[in-house]
Amino acid sequence: MAPDLQVRIAYRLKYSELVSPGSKRAIYTFDLLRAWEKLRRRLDFPIIIVRGGGYRTPAYNDRIGGSPRSRHLTGEAIDPGVSTFYENGLDPYSKGAFAVFLSSGFHGIGRFENRLHLDVRPDPTFWEYYIDENGRLRNRPDEQAAKWFDQLNQN
Ligand SMILES: [Zn+2]
Repeated sequence: MAPDLQVRIAYRLKYSELVSPGSKRAIYTFDLLRAWEKLRRRLDFPIIIVRGGGYRTPAYNDRIGGSPRSRHLTGEAIDPGVSTFYENGLDPYSKGAFAVFLSSGFHGIGRFENRLHLDVRPDPTFWEYYIDENGRLRNRPDEQAAKWFDQLNQN
């Protein structure tokens, strides 16, 4: 049976928002929904999931050059756009926002200029994306986030 794209699978989250481009399918884990619920109840403003920022089929992930081990393939990742954060007075790249993501259960946090990557991997891992001299999207460890993580754990 075809999934009902409008069905609500968590607080302020519809199935359609996690569907992979090029398909009508979404996979999502319980851990992802649990972290999302916590995040959404704390940040009670609209959060837009970017195209391809929910589940990705292997074909779609290949097409956009995603990592073969991407957590989007296993329904453990979500990529929010940042515009509604600013519209609601929260800098998405601030320590405060980082602390909310982390304490909601998102332990994999990738930061890029117009979007965030959040996933529910067990080990805390933080990185930032950048464009290299050949115009390719690369990533490197996010040293700022690692410092914040240490500070938060000392308190
Ligand atoms: Zn992502």
